Amino acid sequence: MARVKIYTTDSCPYCVKAKNILGSKGIEYEEINIHGNEELRDEIEKLTGRRDVPQIFIDGSHIGDDDDLEELRVSGELDKMFSVETQNDNGSEIRNVIIIGSGPAGFAAALYAARASLKPLVITGNEIGGQVAKTNDIENYPGFQGESPTELMKIMQEQAERFGAEIRFDMVTEVDFEQHPFKITTYDLKILAKSVIIATGASRRKLKVPGEEEFSGRGVSYCATCDGFFFQNRTIVVVGGSDAAAKETLFLTRFASEVHLIHRRDRLRSGAIFQEHLFNNEKVDIVWDSIVEEIQGDENGVTAVRLKNVKTSEQTIHPTKGVFIAIGVVPNTEIFQGKLELNENGYIITDHRQRTNVPGVFAAGDVQDQIYRQAIMAAGTGAAAAVEAEEYIAEIEHRAYPGR
Ligand code: NDP
Repeated sequence: MARVKIYTTDSCPYCVKAKNILGSKGIEYEEINIHGNEELRDEIEKLTGRRDVPQIFIDGSHIGDDDDLEELRVSGELDKMFSVETQNDNGSEIRNVIIIGSGPAGFAAALYAARASLKPLVITGNEIGGQVAKTNDIENYPGFQGESPTELMKIMQEQAERFGAEIRFDMVTEVDFEQHPFKITTYDLKILAKSVIIATGASRRKLKVPGEEEFSGRGVSYCATCDGFFFQNRTIVVVGGSDAAAKETLFLTRFASEVHLIHRRDRLRSGAIFQEHLFNNEKVDIVWDSIVEEIQGDENGVTAVRLKNVKTSEQTIHPTKGVFIAIGVVPNTEIFQGKLELNENGYIITDHRQRTNVPGVFAAGDVQDQIYRQAIMAAGTGAAAAVEAEEYIAEIEHRAYPGR
């Protein structure tokens, strides 16, 4: 019998992350999908006090969620627990292109680089499929009318692999762009690369109010598709005013009795079609001009949010069991600080050919796009970055590049 038990739901990218961590170590696990099963859902809440998935048990002990599993992985504890042999790579291998990230930008870059016979290596990061995989539907990716965003990302990955891209579930922890070939360090390896394409995307912004950390997973969530099921027939709030918040709100109306969308202004930023759906949904109520000042709770999790009306300064307590936060994103550029030029908001600065300030290092997708942040733009810039990387390699190897 597997020593690891993992509770999941359908369409849960954090569950996929946890399974990938286990899979990358060759650790077998038993998966229990609680989707639609109220008994199992209540059992998890009783066993762990949590209202989110994944929840992971090793040898019967609750170890927590994907972040807790990640900590065990980083500290080396997981290897010890399961006697996993660590790979020792001396960093002598030189790759043509290393692509960091596995959203639409990363996979499009991988497809183009693979078709150019560059045998790219994609280091996926923890969340294969990036932000797209975390959304509940995708209606504006031209040519794709499939079931789910995860399906789109799976197709992208398979297409890149079919042409020779190597996909590795691992996390880059350090980059050295001062030497060439560039040096890339991951959890498990040190690798050299002639060129690097950064497609690390962006992550959900935190609200940074009291109670947010404390009740994370116990009512506070950043993923409606993962955790919506825990809030059946309950009153919940969503914070935000743009497309992501609108999508989360509409998705949550499938489960909740009421969804209150709390927005800090008197006008939504989200697109017209989302606004129309919100205004026409009788389960949705929009609380205008309001900010969340505190998330309150008790030993059972979230009980209320304290709101402040920014125009009148009036404070109100709004009872709720769940707080879904969708207030935009921050670029994943921590490891590039001091190594590449970033703008004042932390985005990588690129020119119109996806070049960063370091020759041979390119960036594509949301990590360098503060304006559009659309999957289609990410894929387009990923393809462009791969074409540029191909030309760069031809140049440093004194080979003629076709067409230029
Ligand atoms: P955005 O950056 O577009 O919007 C963030 C929202 O959160 C804004 O409404 C903002 O308010 C609000 N906000 C920011 N900080 C706070 C705070 N501290 N407290 C309260 N509210 C706050 O983020 P999104 O994630 O929604 O979208 C990112 C990009 O992805 C956009 O380009 C969007 O169009 C795209 N997207 C597209 C989707 C699609 O299906 N086409 C789905 C999801 C996203 P304010 O308006 O006052 O600034």
